[in-house]
Amino acid sequence: MRALARIDTGAIERNCARLAALGPLCAVVKSNGYGHGAVAAARAAQRGGAAWLAVATANEAAELRAAGVDGPLLVLGALAPEELRTALAAEADVVAWREDFVAGLPRSARVHVKLDTGMGRLGTRDPAEAERVAAAAGDRLVGVMTHFATADDDPAFMREQLDRFVPWADRFGVMRHAANSAGALAEPAARLDLMRCGIAIYGLDPFHRDPADHGLEPALSLVSYVAEVKRARVGDSVGYGRRFIAERDTWIGTIPIGYGDGYRRGLTGRGEVLVDGRRVPLAGTVSMDNITVDLGDEPVERGTEAVLIGPGLPAEDMAAKLGTINYEITCGLTARVPREYV
Ligand code: PLP
Repeated sequence: MRALARIDTGAIERNCARLAALGPLCAVVKSNGYGHGAVAAARAAQRGGAAWLAVATANEAAELRAAGVDGPLLVLGALAPEELRTALAAEADVVAWREDFVAGLPRSARVHVKLDTGMGRLGTRDPAEAERVAAAAGDRLVGVMTHFATADDDPAFMREQLDRFVPWADRFGVMRHAANSAGALAEPAARLDLMRCGIAIYGLDPFHRDPADHGLEPALSLVSYVAEVKRARVGDSVGYGRRFIAERDTWIGTIPIGYGDGYRRGLTGRGEVLVDGRRVPLAGTVSMDNITVDLGDEPVERGTEAVLIGPGLPAEDMAAKLGTINYEITCGLTARVPREYV
């Protein structure tokens, strides 16, 4: 085992069960299930009570269907014509906000109309236009939706968005959905008829602090092992650019994971690893396939387990060190990292 992402599908299932206790749940499994594996995440989410699944792209929808995942499925993203064909062939619902898009849909399509209440990305900002799109969809209209820009850090603006959305949405008599994980957890009024939760189903904290605050269990651990241990004498250097120079005699462990796996180079000088449960700092530059750690006076056996993300080393902390968010940490794990499901 070089480096692998160990995914506790039971944790995804339990996180979904917690969320589903708040209201009907759509599990968002785009971007390969936030790096956890879309198919495994979708199945675990369904076991945990998710009534719906959502992805961002048509190919992601096709991947789920090819694996035999069934049930209501929504493609959240914009669809170019050839992608639309793929999405419809996967019997996925699509999001619409333009009349010309709806005009090109077959009779069998299922449509969710998106009002842009403040995200400024997809959807139309004009409620009258959105209403025309809904009318054009006719009996193909399944839902109306919006998306929050600040559910994680500005609840007042989220409530403004909700106030723009709900009175408009109420007139259609179809499913209304708005909340992402942060909205669903923080604002009961935002849960409406369906909550589209991504980050929380993986046990990651939408508020970038501690998932345990919301009873969420992180599902992913990133583990590797110490492949080599060697002595560095005072003045010896380690890694590209000689960024680590031993100030005292020490032991250096080499762990075969690097930015080619999604262990980000920005962790150089900041990252920490649990080697046999002991927290040790990186020594030198993160390279594509390896990192080096300073084991101090205590060498370990070759083969000793090294944890990069796991209990005691949460994805939220790694994200903070990199000036990013936990989403990007798990989504960024590359295809080279095998996913092991436990
Ligand atoms: N809904 C839409 C339209 C999204 O783009 C996303 C993800 O970015 C989600 C829901 C899920 O958001 P979160 O992962 O914060 O729960």
